[in-house]
Amino acid sequence: MSDTDSASANSSKPEAIAERIRAAILEHRLAPGAKLTEAQLCEVFGVKRGPIRQALAQLATDHLVDLEPNRGAFVASPSLQEVHEVFEMRRIIELAVVERLCSGHGMRRLKSIGSMIGRERKAFETRDFPAWIRLSGEFHTELAALTGNTVLCDCLNGLVARSTLISALYESLGRSPCSFEDHEAILAALDAGDAKEAAALMSRHLQSVELKMLDRPARGAADLHEVFGARNDAHKGKSAPG
Ligand SMILES: [Zn+2]
Repeated sequence: MSDTDSASANSSKPEAIAERIRAAILEHRLAPGAKLTEAQLCEVFGVKRGPIRQALAQLATDHLVDLEPNRGAFVASPSLQEVHEVFEMRRIIELAVVERLCSGHGMRRLKSIGSMIGRERKAFETRDFPAWIRLSGEFHTELAALTGNTVLCDCLNGLVARSTLISALYESLGRSPCSFEDHEAILAALDAGDAKEAAALMSRHLQSVELKMLDRPARGAADLHEVFGARNDAHKGKSAPG
């Protein structure tokens, strides 16, 4: 099997397909409520229904996709109640993260967070909005990773992914509700070991992110060929490797 053959075999696995759909949702290329038509996804990814169904089931477990009997799959559209619940949990977890970091856990690795905020700022300034949205979520998950608690990280990763989906629903598409200035201020307080200030800033930040998300609803139509076409070239079809 040549390299291209094995690469294309890997990219047709359910995990790889789920990953590409997840990235499209989290980069706001697929809006909440968008219909994920199986037949179209089969064409786009060049696979049969089996792997597509498995990929969609995996995303449904992560609350990013809703599977509706007899209607099919849709990008999830979280309710207001769910938005509040997600942010309530984030506040509990992320204030615990701040507290642990200030009591010495992972303090030595705070520098890596500083360079991540630098990339976040750069992505915003160069108008690379998908990268900006991704990096602003990673600020929160990477900070949590410094605690070394993998169960906590799994929980927060899921909540941050759902927040990013929510931000596509309630904020205009392509914008991150996080401000990197807030992130810088939180990092500065952590760096100074000021637990009280860091917790207050994190709490205020999460509150403002939640409020921004409730701004205005987005619309949900999407052309799946267009969303995945740039990297997959499904329209051309004849460019199959090997
Ligand atoms: Zn943030």
